[in-house]
Amino acid sequence: MKAEIIAVGTELLLGQIVNSNAQYLSQELAALGIDVYFQTVVGDNTNRLAQAVEAATSRADLLIFTGGLGPTQDDLTKDSLASVLGRSLHIDPEAMENVDRFFKDRGIPMTENNRRQALSIDGATPLPNETGLAVGNAIADQGKFYIVLPGPPKEMKPMFEKQAKPWILEHVLSGAMPLFSKMLKFAGIGESALETKLLDLIKEQTDPTVAPYAKEGEVTIRISTKAPNEQEAMEKLDVMEREIASRLPNHLYANIDVPIEKTIVDLMAERGLTLSAAESCTGGLLMEMITAVPGSSAVFTGGIVCYSNAMKEKLLNVPHELLEGENAPGAVSAETAIVLAEEVRQITDTDFGLSITGVAGPSHSERKPVGLVYIALSRRDGETSVYELNLKGSREIIRLRTVKTILYHLWK
Ligand code: ATP
Ligand code: MG
Repeated sequence: MKAEIIAVGTELLLGQIVNSNAQYLSQELAALGIDVYFQTVVGDNTNRLAQAVEAATSRADLLIFTGGLGPTQDDLTKDSLASVLGRSLHIDPEAMENVDRFFKDRGIPMTENNRRQALSIDGATPLPNETGLAVGNAIADQGKFYIVLPGPPKEMKPMFEKQAKPWILEHVLSGAMPLFSKMLKFAGIGESALETKLLDLIKEQTDPTVAPYAKEGEVTIRISTKAPNEQEAMEKLDVMEREIASRLPNHLYANIDVPIEKTIVDLMAERGLTLSAAESCTGGLLMEMITAVPGSSAVFTGGIVCYSNAMKEKLLNVPHELLEGENAPGAVSAETAIVLAEEVRQITDTDFGLSITGVAGPSHSERKPVGLVYIALSRRDGETSVYELNLKGSREIIRLRTVKTILYHLWK
């Protein structure tokens, strides 16, 4: 099943608005297991619109249009599609009632052109608009499927979700096996290193298919398969999950779509463990991320943002000799990270004390390179681990990766 999305609107071509409808629809179609091979954008022009319909009909089975259903002369989508299909348009009585009611409720006279919003292509299933006036359409014609949706996202999305999706399931995908997927979440490994380990699975388009993507400092893999029912799908997905886990021991932290901070908070809460933090270059980002998780109060007691050397000395007892002087290791050092982690753990009397000190950039400090970060974990039993990170990217990315990496070491 191949689909094409056709976004109609000269504003899109002029760059005045972003084609977010295509993004939304592509994601929705992917989740239904429908391949989108083309996304087209075409202006409000009958001839070019007709050309776009013809090209798309030749290469796709399902065409989804957004935009150009309004009342004005430049809203031409239904007219153009109807003419390509050799069909006429008629006023859909229910949609007309919706338009009439809108104007009556507001006590304003309806202009004649508003009737256009109630137009439906002959033989099409009208898709009611619950958040606007223009009625949508769904049509099967000579083995091809056409869906027409309004442009404004607040009308398009509910119409897709409530009207178009059920129609697709019933008319387009009837008989096809539904798609099931599972999200695998990884920590402590970058996207490219992970891809290398799974290259054969990704390349060969195995069943289940394996697709990695990275976002917000985390790497996720979606494994998907088509099956007649959930149980059969899960059996296949579990086999693939075990294969992937065996290739990446110690990195797979969840098989549902949760961020690592939530996994940590839940695990620690379950075990009755507590946590505190001392942050320099991340300025509280770790604490922000942890406290954004509901239920974190059972785990996280507090922490200190010790951005300057003076604060590291004053609040966390880092010896002056460690921070400054000819041969001092400096604030960005394993030694300082260890003191920060141990001190914050003692001050807060927690099971774990985490610390972060580094150079987030864009310029270096202490003549150390951007991306050099030390993180330490102090444990109640007296043991402290320290890690040196050499991260690449913008200030924002370095800070985010640092936080995700320290959470990974805590999880591990
Ligand atoms: P209207 O009744 O508002 O005229 P319409 O169905 O005719 O709706 P358009 O006139 O094409 O749709 O677009 C109306 C508005 O909807 C645009 O100004 C824009 O804000 C939004 N819109 C249209 N197409 C898209 C798109 N592809 N992605 C995101 N927003 C869009
Ligand atoms: Mg319009």
